Amino acid sequence: MARTLCEISANTIEFFRGKVWESPGYGEIELGGRGPGAKKLIQSLGLIIGEKCEYVYDFGSSVYCTVELVGIEEENCDINYPRVSEQNKKRNKYCDRCNNNGKKEVALYTVYDFEDDSVELLCEACLEEVSEDVDVSEIVY
Ligand SMILES: [Zn+2]
Repeated sequence: MARTLCEISANTIEFFRGKVWESPGYGEIELGGRGPGAKKLIQSLGLIIGEKCEYVYDFGSSVYCTVELVGIEEENCDINYPRVSEQNKKRNKYCDRCNNNGKKEVALYTVYDFEDDSVELLCEACLEEVSEDVDVSEIVY
């Protein structure tokens, strides 16, 4: 059975072929299975085994996840799909601005700047220095 991107989530999401916001997106998938990305078949994306995509889950809290195509198999009737076959260990991300100054501070926020069309990972102190024309999302560890 052909699976769609919509089946992977029950909230507003968008998949990107690579890094979120930096790579081409496959279209937003809205709650209830609507939106330009909802009906895209995974098999139609042209992904190859081992290729990784990222998706942003729930544009309000903006949780970023990475998924990897590990294989293509026949469906097993005894398994509920989609299923998590493996999860990453917790891995800290570090503040981009502190890193530029030689410091290693855990990033707590992903900050998207609409004016510069850029994304930064920032710690609490560096977040206080950004302008107001940004989208701030807490990083969930
Ligand atoms: Zn910082």
